[in-house]
Amino acid sequence: MSRALRADLHVHTTASDGTLAPRRVVELAGQMGLAAVAITDHDTCAGVSEASQAGNATNVEVIPGVEINSDAGGREVHVLGYLVWPLPDRLAGLLERMREAREARLDEMVRRLKKCGIAISASRVREIAGSGVIGRPHVARAMVEAGKVRSVGEAFQLYLDMGRPCYVERYKISPVETVAEIALAGGVPVFAHPGSAGRDDLISDMIQAGLRGIEVYHPDHDALTAEKYLALCEREGLIATGGSDSHGEDERGPTLGRVTVPYEVVESLKGVKACTGIPDQQPRYNTPRSDSMGGSPGEVRKTGREAGGRGTC
Ligand SMILES: [Zn+2]
Ligand SMILES: [Zn+2]
Repeated sequence: MSRALRADLHVHTTASDGTLAPRRVVELAGQMGLAAVAITDHDTCAGVSEASQAGNATNVEVIPGVEINSDAGGREVHVLGYLVWPLPDRLAGLLERMREAREARLDEMVRRLKKCGIAISASRVREIAGSGVIGRPHVARAMVEAGKVRSVGEAFQLYLDMGRPCYVERYKISPVETVAEIALAGGVPVFAHPGSAGRDDLISDMIQAGLRGIEVYHPDHDALTAEKYLALCEREGLIATGGSDSHGEDERGPTLGRVTVPYEVVESLKGVKACTGIPDQQPRYNTPRSDSMGGSPGEVRKTGREAGGRGTC
């Protein structure tokens, strides 16, 4: 029986907050029979090279990617950037500043709290944050844990709110700017799990800035949500992407591959990339052979247009 080629286009590794090394992710993808996997770590492409090497050995195509957290009036909007490889200096510099700013902000909050007589450790705050992006709520929880305040609310009121002694401004980039930066870098910007962001009102501005896709299929999206965004993609000519947003394993085993999309979506992303005029310099592309994957050749030769989305220039 023929099995269509599938791709998981949203995966984290130890290069950011995932628990599996890039190599291990790709090996697992091979065992699962995935045709392609996109490495989309937070604010970094550091896992892409290792993943690509493993991809060559396992016949899994590795799609370089990145996931960038942007700020929309206090709400987090995540934007995926596909096929940004090698990272141009401008985007690499931006990501570096974001990473540094996140760490520096935590250190500064810890330093100011100490001055106020509240000793908490930055490493404990990181533990509390787990796989999430470190923020003031995690600092507040560490303060409660240390018995320095009675509640998270009190921590904010007395110390962490804007205007209070331990407030530190955050490095912010808007969703529209993020999309524009990815597009400028020759990547394909995609709105990640918009269902969790709750900022659909930004989509038209993001499209103006160069948005080319929406992550329709994601563990946080139920069937109705996915349907809503799929309709939006069709209406706006955007590529409907999807992925597991895997950070490693849960009690049922690896989360990789729990949400996948047809390989045609990869073709659509490449179609958009081809239109940027920036040469595709992906790390030794390893296009899957359909014979060994069980799919028919026709399944991988559809154009971006056929697969849906703005796959043509
Ligand atoms: Zn995300
Ligand atoms: Zn993610």
